[in-house]
Amino acid sequence: MQNVWGLHIKSVLVESILRKRQILQTGAVQHTYLRGRHYPWRERGRSAYEVLIAETLLRRTTSGAVSRVYEKFLGKFPSLEHLRRTNKRQLVQALLGVGLQEQRYVLLKEMSRYLLDVEGGVVPGDLARLLRIPGIGQYGARAMLTFHFDTAAAVVDSNVGRVLQRVFLDSLEGCGNQQLVQKVADMLLPTEGHREFNFGMLDIGAIVCRPVSPRCGDCPLSTACDYNQDGVERLRKGTRGLGRRGIDGIRIRA
Ligand code: SF4
Repeated sequence: MQNVWGLHIKSVLVESILRKRQILQTGAVQHTYLRGRHYPWRERGRSAYEVLIAETLLRRTTSGAVSRVYEKFLGKFPSLEHLRRTNKRQLVQALLGVGLQEQRYVLLKEMSRYLLDVEGGVVPGDLARLLRIPGIGQYGARAMLTFHFDTAAAVVDSNVGRVLQRVFLDSLEGCGNQQLVQKVADMLLPTEGHREFNFGMLDIGAIVCRPVSPRCGDCPLSTACDYNQDGVERLRKGTRGLGRRGIDGIRIRA
């Protein structure tokens, strides 16, 4: 096949997105209202600093591990100034149980220094400036926008990437293109209810559309999902890539 990401394939994908969008939007938003996970950082009214800390701690670990230390961490380090002043021992101690304490220590120190020195101690509310914060990638920046600043932005972590690759298996199988997966998510995002849509997609990816043995019977996206239609059979021949890294091994967010 020549350039598989050429115009023809793209138009097929666009048609598929337009056809499935309503089901995905409704399914994800309803999932949030009916079965959404509750974490302290998801509460409305959290400050930008508090949401930023949550998104930083959530990198490469589980929500459960972060929820066990989150409030205590904020109690010890309630502001960027506190983070900048703290020493390594105190910070590492506060992060016990989350993992990667050394890396998180370096990251949090760099982040607090940058925000205090460059942004005047205020977390910026636009994508370009959020992306300049040390350690904040595409996921983290978009999470800040949708979850704190109430600005429509689609978040794609490794779980959401897997969901999208399965739902659009006919077009995304083996693409390995993070930007394309992000683009698909952008096109699916509702303007109203973007926060609930994102929470729903994150939760479906984490709980329902598991890397191995996805629970398609419980999934609100099942009627729109290629994988649920005949993808299982198609992929049975070569099940490589159906693990944590997604169908084709795409790594979107560790
Ligand atoms: S129907 Fe199955 S494969 Fe498709 S998104 Fe839902 S859980 Fe994942």
